[in-house]
Amino acid sequence: MNVAFHTLANGVSVPMLGLGMDNLTDARLAEESVACALATGYRSVDTASGYQNEAAVGRAIAASRIARADLYITTKVASADHGFDNALRAFDRSCAALGLEYLDAYHIHWPGKYRYVDTWRALIRLLEERRVRVIGVCNFLPHHLDRLFEETGVLPLVDQVEWHPYFAQTDVAAYAQSHAMLVEAWSPLMVGGPALEDSVIRGIAAEVGRSPAQVVLRWHTQRGRRVFPKSVTPTRIAENLRIFEFSLTGDQLAAIDALAWHKQRIGPNPEIFFMR
Ligand code: NDP
Repeated sequence: MNVAFHTLANGVSVPMLGLGMDNLTDARLAEESVACALATGYRSVDTASGYQNEAAVGRAIAASRIARADLYITTKVASADHGFDNALRAFDRSCAALGLEYLDAYHIHWPGKYRYVDTWRALIRLLEERRVRVIGVCNFLPHHLDRLFEETGVLPLVDQVEWHPYFAQTDVAAYAQSHAMLVEAWSPLMVGGPALEDSVIRGIAAEVGRSPAQVVLRWHTQRGRRVFPKSVTPTRIAENLRIFEFSLTGDQLAAIDALAWHKQRIGPNPEIFFMR
């Protein structure tokens, strides 16, 4: 199975599909999911210090014996660790938990209220020291991104935001396009929501002979958004990887785009969410 790759503005090549790790605090389950995904052909994992499973991810990576250079591992600094020195210490803790000497991507998990610029300066330092290949953010809106640039002169290469068929962030996508940033879609399947039951998506799934989840993941990647669906189910882990074997037509993509009228956010609004 061939996973598509995207080349970031700094030349780093990123797999367009990986495994998500949110809501996986059971260490055994977390380790088994990563082991299953790596054995199935995944080479990218998206975790966070807040998910409390970095050590389990690290054990599965070590056991896989996959060459380090072939992996793309993301983790994130939590809001409680914002600030320059705190973020540097949090980075060291994450590397130790993951058993990795360097990270592929290190993101600010949420903008929070006050200290994300100082946190960003720490990530710039880590990039300069070559301890991380890509620095990014999550849940940053254009005004947060503008502030980062105004105060540091460095923009993230990646912004990870909630995006699924019932919720789009076109302002973030437009900003990303004009600043050569990659958008990553979190909760791409709308976990716990109705997107996978939607008649438009089920109709397209029947047309292309794929599952609704595959249709949604393919839609994201054809629209240029990287995805990392979470699953603890080996058949779904395999199913989610097989999205590069088919393509959706322009009309099918547009029909899914049109579902965003629902404006149904399932996660917190970064303008008012200051935890994690
Ligand atoms: P997802 O959209 O990945 O949905 C996960 C759910 O979908 C699970 O319940 C899983 O069930 C189910 N599922 C997976 N594959 C299929 C399939 N083929 N068919 C039907 N159901 C399926 O939600 P997440 O919220 O986990 O988002 C993905 C990742 O994004 C997270 O895991 C995390 O890494 C990241 N994230 C980042 C955030 C941020 O603030 N930066 C916030 C939230 C998420 P099962 O496991 O039982 O198979």
